[in-house]
Amino acid sequence: SPIPDYLTEVLGDVASDTSGAPAGYIPELAVADPELLGAVFATVDGEVYGAGDIDTEFTIQSISKPFTYALALSDRGFDAVLAKVGVEPSGEAFNEISLESDTGRPRNPMINAGAITVHSLAGAADLHPEVRVERVVQGLSAFAGRPLKIDEAVCVSEMENAYRNLAIAHMLRSYNVLTDDPRGIVEGYIRQCSVLVTARDLAMMAATLANRGVNPLSGERVIHEPVVRQVLSVMATCGMYDAAGDWATQVGIPAKSGVAGGLIGALPGQIGIATFSPRLDPHGNSVRGVSLFERFSSDMGLHVMEVP
Ligand code: GLN
Repeated sequence: SPIPDYLTEVLGDVASDTSGAPAGYIPELAVADPELLGAVFATVDGEVYGAGDIDTEFTIQSISKPFTYALALSDRGFDAVLAKVGVEPSGEAFNEISLESDTGRPRNPMINAGAITVHSLAGAADLHPEVRVERVVQGLSAFAGRPLKIDEAVCVSEMENAYRNLAIAHMLRSYNVLTDDPRGIVEGYIRQCSVLVTARDLAMMAATLANRGVNPLSGERVIHEPVVRQVLSVMATCGMYDAAGDWATQVGIPAKSGVAGGLIGALPGQIGIATFSPRLDPHGNSVRGVSLFERFSSDMGLHVMEVP
């Protein structure tokens, strides 16, 4: 059929690009097979089309950030979350120690400072750290439409090298943006990043955002529409870190990347798209993933600023 054939053709076109490298700062990610490559389209009416390595599991990493932001907004309300984490693009790298100078508030929920804070806002206040992680894994699973698990090896590997995220969390604690033990929150955030997904799962998660917060296959309403609008807006402005402007002009789809090589895009009312390829560019975005999205956007006129 035409869509899988098209996907296979485009995967073939980007496969010769061997530039970039799997994330090195998490040792367990550095050993990923760099040739893995897959792409999935999931429509809002529940059609799923894929090609390549679409059922290989890898860790979700920063693609967990918009979804956990959605959970925090649902669990605590907009005012409580916005009081702690802003919505301004930082134009800086994902792991920058970037806080508003007067309040110590992280600039947005897509950079690590914001995402660590958002993790602490998922579920009710005063939850035990392990119960908070359960709330997050259950919420991510609802977006995917199947129960997801944590990769313990990746989790341990990141935690053993988490000096920078621990530094960020201690800064946040000193400003009272975090109010619990910073180490426990970083552990929970890293468990959140270590949730295993496939490109097929990520496309369903993105399709749930595209479908007003209802998973197109399970039919479950995971989040309400005002939360979807907030999350997609932040993805559009901050999802690709210091490459967000290039992405907005070249691709024009609200998106989020992760350092294990996943990349998602969500087009409201239309489709969720996911790609997987572990080699990263200097921003920490998948090299072939960015190329694939550029192709999809221009071939099918998916840029949100273009009249279809
Ligand atoms: N767990 C990773 C970190 O905190 C996620 C980074 C990413 O995927 N951009 O460094």
